This record gives sequence, structure tokens and C-alpha cells, in this order.
Amino acid sequence: MSRIFCVLSITSLLALLPSGYSSAQENQPALIEVGENDSPFLLERKLTLPFFTSKASKVISIIENRIEATTTALTDLATTFESIRSRQEIIEKSLENVAVLLLERIEEAEKIMVGRAEKLENIEEADKVRLQKDKKKYENIETIMKLANSNDWVCPVSNTIKFYDSWNENRPRGIHRGVDLVGFYGADLYAPVDGEITFFWDSVGGKSFRLIAENGDYYFGTHLYRYGKKSGKVLAGDVIGQLGAGGNATGPHLHFEFHAGPIGRGNEVNPYQIVNRRCTNRIPIEMPLNHTEEEERGKYMFSYGNFEWD
Ligand SMILES: [Zn+2]
Repeated sequence: MSRIFCVLSITSLLALLPSGYSSAQENQPALIEVGENDSPFLLERKLTLPFFTSKASKVISIIENRIEATTTALTDLATTFESIRSRQEIIEKSLENVAVLLLERIEEAEKIMVGRAEKLENIEEADKVRLQKDKKKYENIETIMKLANSNDWVCPVSNTIKFYDSWNENRPRGIHRGVDLVGFYGADLYAPVDGEITFFWDSVGGKSFRLIAENGDYYFGTHLYRYGKKSGKVLAGDVIGQLGAGGNATGPHLHFEFHAGPIGRGNEVNPYQIVNRRCTNRIPIEMPLNHTEEEERGKYMFSYGNFEWD
């Protein structure tokens, strides 16, 4: 408190100094009173005023310097803080970026892993399908071979017939999934194996039959002239109808399909190799059916089927 007072006193003292100080100096008392009222002390003006003036200006300058220094320091501090804050922001931003990058990498890695897993599953699935298809194919080949070599299997059309391998041929109504056994109009049709027969009307082929063997083998015949006597159980060789040109047929023939068991219907297999072996009363496809002369038959060649099973 006393220090502040002292500074103030000196300041006011300086302010009281008249502008024409040096010229008026002689009229002033030689001694001046300074300090607080209860403890005043006298100083010789001549010696003290310049001293105090210089001291006071020094003090002011120190204070000013202090203020400036403090302001600078505060500004510096603020700048430092700002810099720290911005640096922290940068760090935070980069950390954020790193985190985002890491997350992206993790997501990518997960995607790759999932993709790989899916791929593996797909491969497994594709392999499974292929193996199942192969298995079915070999089973079907085995079935065809067995039937082609079985003396119990009866050619479904009586009398002279002709046919060729027309499996998968492009026809107006789609891919051909059977064999066409061309024979005499009204020729007896035989049950090729024991089984359960059903006669029905087919919108495409007209009068038709389906015969299901005990092992699930499925036979389908269409374009019939007449149905057999009754549906139900039949034995191999039983008459199951007569050959005709019903439905969309262009001439008398039996459209004959074989679907291998145990799957049966839907598991279509080319029946050419069976009829090729079991239908022995056969003439070449180009030869007219009523041609019987041995020398005439020699003019024609049999065309044999391709080994296509599926
Ligand atoms: Zn056909």
C-alpha cells in the first residue's frame, strides 16, 4: 500500500511540475516534503527532484515493460495453447484417419474372408452338384447297359421297325428327349418290363401310356392309335395298345421315353442304346417298312447312335 502511495505521490509530484521548470526553479523552496502525512520527511529539492524523476520514469518503464512482458507472455501462452490445441486437433484428426483406415482395412479383410468363405462354399456346392451329376450319369449308364443286355427287356413295338438316334434333336416343339420307333400303323405295342401302367390323354402326343417298373424306371409312350385293355399291373411282353400317329405325329410311330429309376420321371436318359440292342427286327431308317428283299436291304446302312447319356 505504502509502495503504491509512494509511486502515486511521485507521479502526482511530477504532474505538478510547471512547464517552465528550470526558469521557475529559483522561486521554489529548497526543501520539499514527501512521504505520508504522519511521517513526513524533507528532501533538498535541488538534489532529489531529478533523482525521483529518473526513478519514477524507471519504475513506470519497468511496470510498462512488465505489462508488455506479461502481455507478450500471455499472448505467447495463448499462441502456445492454440498451437497445442491445433496440434492436438491434427493428431486427433490423424488418429481419426488412422482409425478410419484401420476400420476400412478390417472391413476389407472381413470382406475378403467372407468372399473366400463364400467361394469355398460355392466350390464345395459346385463340386457337390458335379459329383451328384456324375454319380447320376454313371448310374444311368449302368442302368442302360443292364437293360440293353437284359433278355427280359421286350422291344415295345411289334413287327418291323426303324429308328435312329434323335436324342437332343431340335424339334419344332423343343429338344427331343426320346426315340421315335417308326412301325406299321396298328402294330401291337408291348410292355417292355413288368410294372404299373396308366393310360392317359396327352395334349401334345394324344393317346399315351406311362409304365413304372418296381425299381422306379419310368417309361412314356405316345401317339397311340389305341390304348391297351386296362390300366394296372402288366408283365413284360403284354400288349399295351396299338401304334398310331396321334397328336402332333407326322406319321405312325411310337415316341418312346425312358427316365431311369429310382428317381424315375424327370431323370430322362437316351433310350437309343436299349432299343438298338433289344429291337432286332429293325431296318435302316431310309428304307421303306414293307421292303423285305434281302438284296434291297443291302442298299441301306444302319446309322448308329451317339453315346450321349444326359
Ligand atoms: Zn419323338
